Order: sequence, then structure tokens, then C-alpha cells
Amino acid sequence: MFSVAIDGPAGAGKSTIAKAAAKELGFIYVDTGALYRSIALACIEMSIPVDDVSAVSAALEKISIELAFVDGTQRVILNGKDVSDEIRTEKVSMSASTVSGIPQVRAYLLELQRSFAKTQNVIMDGRDIGTVVLPDAQVKIFLTASAQARAQRRTLQLEQKGEKPDYEKILEDIIKRDHNDSSRKIAPLRPAEDSIIVDTTELDPEQSVNRITELIKGRMK
Ligand code: C5P
Repeated sequence: MFSVAIDGPAGAGKSTIAKAAAKELGFIYVDTGALYRSIALACIEMSIPVDDVSAVSAALEKISIELAFVDGTQRVILNGKDVSDEIRTEKVSMSASTVSGIPQVRAYLLELQRSFAKTQNVIMDGRDIGTVVLPDAQVKIFLTASAQARAQRRTLQLEQKGEKPDYEKILEDIIKRDHNDSSRKIAPLRPAEDSIIVDTTELDPEQSVNRITELIKGRMK
């Protein structure tokens, strides 16, 4: 099996790029952030404070998460219900970042993530794929961009959905989330030693996809 790990901070373009590259290469695309988001959503629904380590850990036995792939697109099923759209709010983003610092949560999701790469070629995106989840991935990419570029992209995305986003608040949340993700004790966000660092600040989505696809094809030869 061939595995590609794509890690990097929120808003660097991981999911857009990984999705397009997976389509081009015929790989399955696994978005691991959706798993952390689902745990955060489950806690919110059960009125469990996401920073209460023992309550969140205890709640894990009541949570079941499955991924389904519909026309190559990942859907995430939480306790039997498709929550793929519901997990995309700012509240869930921040809560996911908090629950992701809990070791029991990371342990709970580890085998599930690894299981996808055992039976199929995957492009998996997250924060610790190259360092922890798939340390033997044949290609490891660390995708990054300036916080301002990432906040601008997110603002544009929300405007296109008809919302009225606050750029300053989005930038602040991105910086806070970067800090949370990079400074946590367990599986912090950092490039694997053998990763290729790609900065997309000055690249448009098409250029980024081409760069990544070429990198992967080069390694598959
Ligand atoms: O990638 P996405 O923004 O959907 O991830 C939501 C949150 O889940 C991140 O801020 C991060 O804290 C956490 N996460 C993680 N490890 C991963 C994927 C996501 O800690 N592999």
C-alpha cells in the first residue's frame, strides 16, 4: 500500500489539496480532523465541557465514529448519524482543538486512522500523520502558509457561503488554534524530520495541487 501524510496548521489548504490529489491519483482521502471534530460535537451534544479530561475520556465509550466514502468523498458518521456538515462550525473547530490535547482521545482515534491505510492507498491529512499515525508513509508533506493568508482564505470561503465573517476574529482564532496544536504535550503539530515543507502563501489552489501531485508521482516511480 502507498500512503501519503499531509500535515500542517488550520487553513493551509490541506483538505482542498489532498482531496484533489487523491482524485487524480485514485487514492482514498482521509480527513482526520473530522474525527476530532466529531468527538467535540458529541461532547457538546452531551453537555460535557471539552476541557474536562476525565469526563471527555469517560464519554468515549459512548461514542462510535465511522467513516463512509461516497463517490470518493468522506462522510463521518457519529453514533449512526451523518454529521459531516454539522462539524464545520467555528465552535466545533475550537472544541476539537481542545479535545485533541487529551491523550485518551488521541489513543482512541489512533487505530481507526491506521486501519484505513492498511487496505488501501491513502492520502491522509491532519497534524500528526507523518510523525505518529503513519510514520512509515512513503511521502510526508508539511503544508503551511502565513496566518494572514490562511485567515483571508477562510474569510473568503465564508463570504462565498453568504456569511459575514469577521477577519480579525478569524485571524485571532487561527493563531490561538496554531498555538494550542503546536504547544500540546502529546503529538504536537510539527513537521516530521523526513517531510517536505511546502509553503502555499504565494500559491493558488491549482498551483498547490500540481506541486503536491508531482511530488507524489515522483516518489511512486
Ligand atoms: O483539520 P481540522 O481543522 O478539521 O482539525 C480540527 C482540530 O483537530 C485541529 O485544530 C487539531 O487540534 C485537531 N487535529 C489533531 N490531529 C489531527 C487532526 C486534527 O489534533 N491529526
